[in-house]
Amino acid sequence: MEEMVKKYDVIIVGAGIAGMTAAIYAARANKKVLILESSIEGGQIINAISVKNWPGELTISGVDLTRKVKEQAKELGAEFNYTKVEKIEKNGDDWAIIGEGDETFEARSVILAIGTEPRKLSEKQTADAGTRAISYCATCDGALYKNKPVVVVGSGNTAKHETAYLKNIASKVYHIHHDDPIPEDAVAIFVAIGRVPNTEFCKGLVDLDEGGYIVSGEDCKTSVPGIFVAGDCRTKNLRQLVTAASDGAIAATEAIKFLDSK
Ligand SMILES: Cc1cc2nc3c(=O)[nH]c(=O)nc-3n(C[C@H](O)[C@H](O)[C@H](O)COP(=O)(O)OP(=O)(O)OC[C@H]3O[C@@H](n4cnc5c(N)ncnc54)[C@H](O)[C@@H]3O)c2cc1C
Repeated sequence: MEEMVKKYDVIIVGAGIAGMTAAIYAARANKKVLILESSIEGGQIINAISVKNWPGELTISGVDLTRKVKEQAKELGAEFNYTKVEKIEKNGDDWAIIGEGDETFEARSVILAIGTEPRKLSEKQTADAGTRAISYCATCDGALYKNKPVVVVGSGNTAKHETAYLKNIASKVYHIHHDDPIPEDAVAIFVAIGRVPNTEFCKGLVDLDEGGYIVSGEDCKTSVPGIFVAGDCRTKNLRQLVTAASDGAIAATEAIKFLDSK
């Protein structure tokens, strides 16, 4: 017998702070909410040892902040499921959200809260790197290279911070720019060349800007009615936790209005 596909009022793609805040707002309005996450909850902040600029906490780890926000969303009735969303298609008045292995979920509205990921090395540097370790987080992985030579790739402030951090640990820290040759003796490559939005599967679904960010104003509406966007994956000036949470609240409120007007 064919399995019934469960239908949700709101499906949120991405369980970062934007997505989980959206879930809190939508679930409190008594909507049936599912969050689909490709990895573990928390998104970018999960790796932060000490989170800054989050009101109410002088300092808190990314793991603890994530745990609290997830508990709050679950307590209110939001469901979590783990799959990488690969496609979203119109299905009558609703949306079919298709994950790995063609697993399909149905939604009356969608919130895209898919964040960003680190930009990868160029083809030339990837070839140069060979089988050497590649990391995107010095605080996470730096300790593995005590007294060994490493290299940081990137020209911005993050690359400078990563270099300064690694100087306390490694025997030598090279600091090179995007596309410079990678020194032969470096055993690990720390990449800090910016971030890109996780919006590959959104091409042709909603309008994207030239950098791949989902085009939206402060109302968190996309170019398509019924699909909303929250957090770092949208066009905006400040990508931080509080603005991600703010977007989550706005996107959910707009989704609720959309559902109630149908
Ligand atoms: C190391 C570090 C430290 C930081 N420290 C601070 C700080 O102290 N204070 C501050 O305000 N900000 C900080 N930031 C910035 C802050 O983390 C981000 O602005 C915020 O996490 C953005 O949240 P988000 O929910 O929009 O996106 P993300 O955190 O990127 O979450 C997106 C989620 O979507 C999931 N996802 C992506 N694609 C798919 C898909 N196809 N299917 C299913 N799931 C998908 C991802 O796995 C991820 O869990 C820091 C960032 C980093 C990297």
